Amino acid sequence: MTQLEAAKRGIVTDEMAYVAEQEGVSPEFVRERVAAGRIVIPRNPNHHTLRDFKGIGEGLSVKVNANLGTSYDYVNPEEEVEKARVAIAYGADTVMDLSTGGDLKAVRRRILEVATVPLGTVPIYEAEFRAARRKSFFDMSADELFEVIEEHGQEGVDYITVHVGVTLKSLEAYRHTSRTTGIVSRGGGLMAAWMLHRGEENPLYARFDDLLDIARTYDMTLSLGDGLRPGSLADSTDRAQVAELLTIGELAERARRAGVQAMVEGPGHIPLNEIATNVQVQKKLTGGAPFYILGMLPVDTAAGFDHIAGAIGGAMAGWLGADMLCYLTPAEHLGLPTVEHVKEGVIAFKIAAHAADVARGNPRALERNRRMSEARYRLDWEGQFALCLFPEEARRLKEERGSMTKACSMCGPFCPMNLVEAVLRRGEKVELGVHRGSGS
Ligand code: SF4
Repeated sequence: MTQLEAAKRGIVTDEMAYVAEQEGVSPEFVRERVAAGRIVIPRNPNHHTLRDFKGIGEGLSVKVNANLGTSYDYVNPEEEVEKARVAIAYGADTVMDLSTGGDLKAVRRRILEVATVPLGTVPIYEAEFRAARRKSFFDMSADELFEVIEEHGQEGVDYITVHVGVTLKSLEAYRHTSRTTGIVSRGGGLMAAWMLHRGEENPLYARFDDLLDIARTYDMTLSLGDGLRPGSLADSTDRAQVAELLTIGELAERARRAGVQAMVEGPGHIPLNEIATNVQVQKKLTGGAPFYILGMLPVDTAAGFDHIAGAIGGAMAGWLGADMLCYLTPAEHLGLPTVEHVKEGVIAFKIAAHAADVARGNPRALERNRRMSEARYRLDWEGQFALCLFPEEARRLKEERGSMTKACSMCGPFCPMNLVEAVLRRGEKVELGVHRGSGS
């Protein structure tokens, strides 16, 4: 029985109870929303190392996903495993293995071994890889794609991105746009090329019921991918993007009816002034399905620092209702990220998600910020390290410079919080000259 089927029958599963505990809400709150398709809990029972279940969706904290995986040019499975470890250590709520080079099955198995959080994949990469090695990508059969999906389910993959909205109809809409950057989704582009070359409908759309059967068997959450997402601000919120979303909305509803958990992926390159529209339209057209966004990236020009640009868009989108942010790394648009890039990307997006939680009025996020401020005002450094998002980094920076006063080395004896507190509240006589003398 899937989480969704259980929820519809009024059953609170162990996973729902765990999520409720983690989020500080009642189990019934989680169950109701899982039943309505507004929260998903990606959880394939075959993923034996999964311990930290995640609820993604309405009324919960905003989650962060970290992508990793080998590429055609660079195959080092152990480095990808290390990326998964580092991403999880820094707070990634899920990881996706997007490998396209080397022994894909072996890489996935290794990542599954260390993935204590849900693991996602994009099965068309592997189907394409197999067909290309045999003869040509265009030789891939629909059955082959479904076989790969089934294998991912058997191995324990918790959610899969499927570009079901890239249909002959949405490609027709795409033809009538004058896009600057065409199709930028790797899976969406592969699917579109296959369809156009063979003149056939997308098998994931044409045989959506088969897809639902496999997903239901393993309780693999479907992440309905946005293959026609805009890859530049010039292409944002255009007809092709919206045409695809209309189809995805219908399929999300069909998944819910079939007892299959589904979330919906979203853009992409979107300027700040269009983020609210994108979130509202997505939520409206998909019946409130959890919204998993890629960024959003509000500028095209931050190459080398796209993790910062994406965190700005992600914070705003999360505040307005997006439920999971797919991180970007400094290497986005430039190359395969290193372990350090993964760390930087996760840190940037955890901050974005936390900012969104605060803006959404998440009680735990608000309380943590309040307590952090109190500790800061008391110059209680241990208290601050315990409450800040990345204690190790904070401690290292504090100690790097040292300080001759109780305050930090920025203002030293002139620390306004310490000074005003001493004079006003504690009634102490403060000799600034003496402080300066001892501190400099
Ligand atoms: S010394 Fe300045 S920067 Fe440091 S804690 Fe006090 S006010 Fe803040």
